[in-house]
Amino acid sequence: MDANFVNFASHLHPIFALKRIKQSMNFKELGLNDQMLEAIAFMGFEKATPVQEKAVPEILAGNDLIACAQTGTGKTAAFVLPVLDNLTKDHKHETSVLIIVPTRELAIQIDQAIQGFTYFTPVESIPVYGGGGGSDWDSEKRALTSGADIIVATPGRLISHLNMGYVKFNAVKHLILDEADRMLDIGFYDDIIKIINYLPKKRQTLMFSATMPPKIRQLASKILTKPKEVSIEISKPAEGVLQAAYLTYDTQKTPLIDSLIKDKPELNSILIFSSTKLKVNDIVRELKKSEKSIHGISSALDQTKREEVLSNFRAKKTRVLVATDVLSRGIDIKDIDLVINYDVPGDAEDYVHRIGRTARASSTGVALTLVNEDDMYKFKGIEDFIENEVMKIPLPPSLGQAPEWNPEQPKFARGSFKSNKRKPTGKKKPFHKKRKYQGKKKEN
Ligand code: AMP
Repeated sequence: MDANFVNFASHLHPIFALKRIKQSMNFKELGLNDQMLEAIAFMGFEKATPVQEKAVPEILAGNDLIACAQTGTGKTAAFVLPVLDNLTKDHKHETSVLIIVPTRELAIQIDQAIQGFTYFTPVESIPVYGGGGGSDWDSEKRALTSGADIIVATPGRLISHLNMGYVKFNAVKHLILDEADRMLDIGFYDDIIKIINYLPKKRQTLMFSATMPPKIRQLASKILTKPKEVSIEISKPAEGVLQAAYLTYDTQKTPLIDSLIKDKPELNSILIFSSTKLKVNDIVRELKKSEKSIHGISSALDQTKREEVLSNFRAKKTRVLVATDVLSRGIDIKDIDLVINYDVPGDAEDYVHRIGRTARASSTGVALTLVNEDDMYKFKGIEDFIENEVMKIPLPPSLGQAPEWNPEQPKFARGSFKSNKRKPTGKKKPFHKKRKYQGKKKEN
């Protein structure tokens, strides 16, 4: 257990109980070949995580698979390892694996994980995503025509290449859709179907998704054949995340964050989430007065700048990163000590993804949410969704009086149902049953 973490958690509240993800099974028992076992040892993994334990044998057996697992559970290795096992046994220098992902950041991250596992093998992989320069296009084109073994692609960019007519996908044996729910949220359904039309009918298809809404089931029934199902806790925070909330007025939020992170050199890596990109700039400006090592990231930055900011944070050159939900899904940054939700995310699933940035795989971390009066109802919905009441921590006395916990009415109704006569009578629809948004998801 990280000593910094224990110190910080006990500073927050003494009753924090520490839990860890169970990792019980040896990789050897999963049936992976010796070359893969060496690669796993090279990566420093000792035991398989639950999703690896359940998914690897099914994939090795050649089954289609639908897996419900959030990021941070080791799901990338759960699909990469068995597919590589197959590839290294019978290596043909042709594109036999296609991995489709929602964002370029995730494409780069999965490609990097593959580079790690294939370090001692001739297997080649390439990420294919939009936003780069012309030289990227040319090297992607070369890889897609000369048969790089593994392509990790975002849908839009891949379709641009497919439209040119030179992509060779006739030897694809494994198709993997990662973060499938996110892809549908973004509006990639038609693109996915279009890409699949270019692939051989006889193939293994694996679908990974953090949640299983009906539209995901629908897609699965269209593109998978007799899939086996693996489910690891639907949209529940990874067990190692210690969650707590502060009830605050908006004016108390920045001084609170300041007091939490100031003079705490043991907190090396802090990620603050805000729902809007405008707010990202405000938070950075305010906190910069006492914290010099701070940057903001949102879709307002161009791709090159985003990668630079992210890579400085990943390398621990930047201590505090303020981000919109661009970062909340899929992105794997090790050793984040503290996640702070400056506001309550609009979607319970986003909450789970945001706080999943800390406590990746078997480590532990702390996630704090700042809840103002307007967000209390929403936060209660999140507690219902994760089936857990999040501990409310009192504000430091120097910050003054905090609002009372009163989650009973949604924001728009606050103050408007004063008399019994006007109180709504019908049962409230649980927060998690509401689909926030159906079309293309944008930051505001
Ligand atoms: P993922 O859920 O795929 O984003 O993985 C989260 C993190 O866990 C990554 O940094 C992986 O390198 C790491 N990881 C995956 N599997 C294991 C394992 N069996 N043991 C230790 N770390 C792991």
